[in-house]
Amino acid sequence: MLGLMQQWPLLCHKILDHAARQHGGREIVSRSVEGPIVRTTYAQLRHRALRVAQRLARDGFERGDRIATLGWNTARHMEAWYGAMGMGGVYHTLNPRLFPDQIGWIMNHAEDKCLFVDLTFMPIVEKIAPNVASLQKIIVMSDAAHMPDTALPNVVAYEEWLAEADGDFEWCALEENEAAGMCYTSGTTGEPKGVVYSHRSNVLHAMMACMPDAMGLSSRDVVLPVVPMFHANAWGLAQSAPMAGAKLVMPGGKMDGASIYELLNTEKVSFTAAVPTVWLMLLQHLEETGKALPYLQRVVIGGSACPRAMAETFEKNYGVEVIHAWGMTEMSPLGSLASFKPDYADLEGEARFDIKQKQGHAPFGVEMKVTDDENRELPWDGKTFGRLKVRGPAVAASYYGGAGAEQFDDEGWFDTGDVAHIDPHGYMQITDRAKDVIKSGGEWISTIDLENLAVGHPDIAEAAVIGVAHPKWDERPLLVVVAKPGKEPRKEEILEYMSGKCAKWWLPDDVAFVEEIPHTATGKIQKTALRDQFRDYRLPMG
Ligand code: ADP
Repeated sequence: MLGLMQQWPLLCHKILDHAARQHGGREIVSRSVEGPIVRTTYAQLRHRALRVAQRLARDGFERGDRIATLGWNTARHMEAWYGAMGMGGVYHTLNPRLFPDQIGWIMNHAEDKCLFVDLTFMPIVEKIAPNVASLQKIIVMSDAAHMPDTALPNVVAYEEWLAEADGDFEWCALEENEAAGMCYTSGTTGEPKGVVYSHRSNVLHAMMACMPDAMGLSSRDVVLPVVPMFHANAWGLAQSAPMAGAKLVMPGGKMDGASIYELLNTEKVSFTAAVPTVWLMLLQHLEETGKALPYLQRVVIGGSACPRAMAETFEKNYGVEVIHAWGMTEMSPLGSLASFKPDYADLEGEARFDIKQKQGHAPFGVEMKVTDDENRELPWDGKTFGRLKVRGPAVAASYYGGAGAEQFDDEGWFDTGDVAHIDPHGYMQITDRAKDVIKSGGEWISTIDLENLAVGHPDIAEAAVIGVAHPKWDERPLLVVVAKPGKEPRKEEILEYMSGKCAKWWLPDDVAFVEEIPHTATGKIQKTALRDQFRDYRLPMG
């Protein structure tokens, strides 16, 4: 027997219709690429997105065409996304922090036909566009007055191009399983792999993200996504914020501490999200200026592990609740968040932060398990770690073009490549990437645990742990450290600080001091580059 309820396909433009109807006057504030702060509303944004859709259709772009974007978080970038999706196209976010050759490779792989680009990135486009055969049009997200000189063909100014459409357009009648968006994983090893989101997965993911134990967004929130739209869908915020009717504040290209602080304060931001490196800059700015965060209530920290010291500083010094989150491009991206279940809600002091160190529990829509190398499921005891596998309606079922097929099994589980344990209350904790974990004498050492421990030392700004070859133990940990400005911690002092806080045999064999630790295009420590850097390094033999 079938249910007798209406077919109401889950389509992304319905999110915008809802925002415009129910929260039409709610603002989207952007730090524009040209400089000034500009304001629009959900009602206006929807109208302009309709014009984008109409104009794209008039240019001959069709259902299923990939419409790339190379832009900062701004209202215009959102218009381009919703306009592309609304005419049946597939928005494809490009990460400008990748090498131009890599961006070109990705565009060719996805066969992008059209590109929306911010002024900042025109120099990159000059280099790659001639080598992308599928590309027919480049739309510079600015106006005629700001247009750069370029010899590239088919380049237009967004505002003038848009002015030729009046918005008298119907959203394309799509099926919910059609593609809505694309994003490539940055591929620290091997070639980048394309994840293709559907309308359905994006809408379900946005609903998941809004739930109280996830991001808990409401129409009363003011949301600042510092995490870029080109980094794993801005963690879904360009969809979940309009779904909730929250005011959006878009930081444009400025993510330094002072610029972010200015927006947090003047726009009375209640909720924000970004990777730890962004928050390091903000906290440093606050420390230098003695400023406070009177409006901010919640900060989501993910993309890499949130250092304990960072969670403590936000909560103790500034009264801001930290929500540690884990996810990946393949998961749209939310996988888990460390909000408190009743089992942990009454914890105080250090015990609270022990839980916040965990990546958290899965919301409805994400199933997870940990297995050993033989795919046997491991117990949820909070200590036995293994391969973390997930499945759900917003988790990739394959990569574009069939790459990486070995990561997907017959029962629908996706192997995340992360190593983790899950505790009896369902809280998952990442202990490593499968390729970074240190195998010492047949046992595994978690590099992330050691890094978290090291950055608790008052003189250490950043730390990374890599495995280096050892004749007896196969591999032993080397701690690589960036000291805080003006500080010169000594090796013995650091090891002394760490000892007693982890198993004795986990303690790094040596400490190396560097000016800078290499990062990937999405702000993670680039262990491959670090391992290259220390390839000829020899551990002291005691
Ligand atoms: P990339 O940065 O490679 O493009 P993602 O942004 O999708 O891809 O990265 C996903 C990976 O980032 C996860 O598999 C995990 O290793 C790491 N990660 C994300 N959040 C956290 C977290 N809170 N703690 C530790 N690692 C995390």
